[in-house]
Amino acid sequence: MGNPKAFLEIHRQEAGYRPVHDRIHDFGEVEQTLNTRERKLQASRCMDCGVPFCHWACPLGNKAPEWNDALYKGEWDLAYRLLSSTNPFPEFTGRICPALCEKACVLNRYNHEPTTNRENEAAITEMAFQEGVILPRKDIVRNGKNVAVIGAGPAGLAAANDLNLMGYHITVFEKNESAGGLLRFGIPNFKLNKAIIDRRIRLLEEEGVEFRYSQTIDLGKLSDLEKDYDAIVIATGTPKARDLNIPGRNLKGVHLALELLSQQNRLLAGMEFPKDERITAKGKDVLVIGGGDTGSDCIGTAHRQGCKSVTQIEIMPRPVEGPDDPQNPWPNWPRTLKTTSSHEEGCSRRWNINTLEFLGESGRLTGVRVQEINWQPNPDGGRPIMVEKGKPEVIKAELVLLAMGFLKPEHPKYAENVFVCGDAFNGASLVVRALASGRQIAAKINNYLKATVNL
Ligand SMILES: Cc1cc2nc3c(=O)[nH]c(=O)nc-3n(C[C@H](O)[C@H](O)[C@H](O)COP(=O)(O)OP(=O)(O)OC[C@H]3O[C@@H](n4cnc5c(N)ncnc54)[C@H](O)[C@@H]3O)c2cc1C
Ligand code: SF4
Repeated sequence: MGNPKAFLEIHRQEAGYRPVHDRIHDFGEVEQTLNTRERKLQASRCMDCGVPFCHWACPLGNKAPEWNDALYKGEWDLAYRLLSSTNPFPEFTGRICPALCEKACVLNRYNHEPTTNRENEAAITEMAFQEGVILPRKDIVRNGKNVAVIGAGPAGLAAANDLNLMGYHITVFEKNESAGGLLRFGIPNFKLNKAIIDRRIRLLEEEGVEFRYSQTIDLGKLSDLEKDYDAIVIATGTPKARDLNIPGRNLKGVHLALELLSQQNRLLAGMEFPKDERITAKGKDVLVIGGGDTGSDCIGTAHRQGCKSVTQIEIMPRPVEGPDDPQNPWPNWPRTLKTTSSHEEGCSRRWNINTLEFLGESGRLTGVRVQEINWQPNPDGGRPIMVEKGKPEVIKAELVLLAMGFLKPEHPKYAENVFVCGDAFNGASLVVRALASGRQIAAKINNYLKATVNL
């Protein structure tokens, strides 16, 4: 720890977002950056606690105290080496991680001003790219064994990266036309510029990872792959979104959130869509059903497409406000009310709202009939009981986006050389968890192959 008193003298400073009136007209990243001096001062606030809860909270086990100290001292190379020893792609997490580590930071407990780990992580990584520290590894010694990775999302990429560096020849099979999974076709460009993914994929390719795009592998028939590969990684995420099969679901204007988000990201990548396939919020009243992060991404996208208004409804009660969650106290993640950059851009938010019916005229959506509800304790001790409150009402909407989460995939029993990771294993989660899971599977496969084939 370079400056033991820094946390007393220097306040937490976030880089903040571009002003709403500016950012709302484009899909560029909304987050800004601090200058080098300020960034180092932020790093100096890390207290190098005896028990670093940040390290415990980060699924990758990132060593924040170590790299914060190196950053404070201006030892950028060392900071990147320490960071990348646990995190294969810190340029992703540095932008879009909810930073479980910061909620667990002792300074969060002390005065709700945790160290800015996530932003520090992004700054270290961008400096490393800028200074040419991150170069393709040319010293990989091949071991003659082949591993297939199905799915090029963060979990598949993390597994591919680790196994490639261990000497395996890696082939990544991806259903989409390019790599990244939800990083590319879910998370909007205003949170993660896709050039950041391209830069990393180029490195992986230069290091020998082979990508085969537009290849949908039938997970029920892996026998062909099993013939050619010594092990197989399934990192196919959670392809099925939770739907809302109520009257009017077939009306034009009712879409799953990812239909909008993936199309918008593809448009920004230069792809064209016929007019009748375009999903746009332009000039429309938009209703987002689902109060989570995917819903919030729909709000930001709707604003940038020029919507008239956005409302977000959630069936569960409004979370507690403030920094602390009495039900889930520090150092755990507080399930408190979250206001994102997209919410700040303008949105009416409502909780305890059940959706009853989509209404339309001539096959097109015109509104949604909803019902305010209350949740009452279940006398039998099970799930709380939903009780209607007042009369149903209609929310005017010409575009509805269903953002109610994803179904956890079920897998058949695979052969012993087939390993599942990321959201495909855990259910819908976070990029940092997908990376950690991909790394764990890579280590497992290495152990398995060392024990079963002649390496
Ligand atoms: C809109 C949205 C916003 C999000 N925002 C954040 C955020 O800000 N921060 C955060 O930490 N997390 C966020 N998440 C969650 C995060 O994106 C996921 O947890 C993470 O991407 C999961 O990684 P994965 O590799 O397991 O799966 P995915 O990213 O889903 O990747 C799976 C890949 O497998 C491919 N695939 C599927 N089936 C096949 C097949 N049969 N053959 C070949 N390929 C196949 C898919 O095309 C995809 O490329 C968000 C999720 C969504 C939907
Ligand atoms: S990956 Fe996320 S939880 Fe881990 S150190 Fe970075 S910001 Fe914190």
